[in-house]
Amino acid sequence: GIAILAIDGPSASGKGSVAQRVAEALGFAYLDSGALYRLTALAAQEAGIDWSDEQGLAQIAQSLDVRFEKDLTFLGGQDVSGLIRSEVVGAGASKVAAFAAVRQALLARQRNFAVAPGLVADGRDMGSVVFPGARLKIFLTATATVRAERRYQQLIARGESADLVAITRDLQSRDERDAARKEAPLRQWDDALLLETSQLSLDQVVECVLSWWKT
Ligand code: C5P
Repeated sequence: GIAILAIDGPSASGKGSVAQRVAEALGFAYLDSGALYRLTALAAQEAGIDWSDEQGLAQIAQSLDVRFEKDLTFLGGQDVSGLIRSEVVGAGASKVAAFAAVRQALLARQRNFAVAPGLVADGRDMGSVVFPGARLKIFLTATATVRAERRYQQLIARGESADLVAITRDLQSRDERDAARKEAPLRQWDDALLLETSQLSLDQVVECVLSWWKT
C-alpha cells in the first residue's frame, strides 16, 4: 500500500514547513489541504459567489482548476501563490471549510494526492476523515502566542506589514471556529501523537517526526 503520514493541527503551528521538509526527506508527495480551502475561497470571490452560499461554493470546489508546481500554486493558469496566503483569504477558507458540501467536494481531490511510495498530508482532518488509515498521525501544535509570533515573523520576512496583536486575535478566532464547527472539527484525535513545538526549532520538529516515522 501507499504509506501515509498525516499531520494535523491549528493554523501557524508550522505544519506546512514541517510536512514539506519531511516529504522531501522521505521522497514522498505532499498535500497542503488548507490550500484547497483557500483556493475555494479565492475562486468563489473571483466568481462572485458568496462565502455563505454552500451549494455555490461546493460547485466551485468541485471544478477548481488548480495546479501545484514546486512552491507555486496556479488557479486557472494564474499564479495565486501569494494571494492565497493573505489573511483575508485565510479567513474565507475557514468560513467555506465549515460546509459539509464543500468538504465532500474536495475529498476525492485530496485522496488523489496519495501516490507511491507515499504522501505527507497536512491539514485539520487528514488523520480523521481524509486518510483514516494513515500509518502515522501527528497532531502538531504550539501555544497561541508562539504561533502568532511565528506568523508575524513570516509576514515581516516577506516584506509585508504585520500587527502582532491583530494576528493573535485572528488566529484565535479562526481556531475557535475550526474547533467549534460540526464538520471535521479541529482536535487531537485519539490515535494521533501530540507534538508540542513551542520550545522546538523547525529542524528539531522535522527530526522528531522522521524518528517517529522510522520506528
Ligand atoms: O492550514 P491553512 O491555514 O492553510 O487552512 C486554512 C483554513 O482551511 C483553516 O483555517 C481551516 O478552516 C480550513 N481547513 C480545513 N481542513 C483542512 C485544511 C484546512 O478545514 N484539512
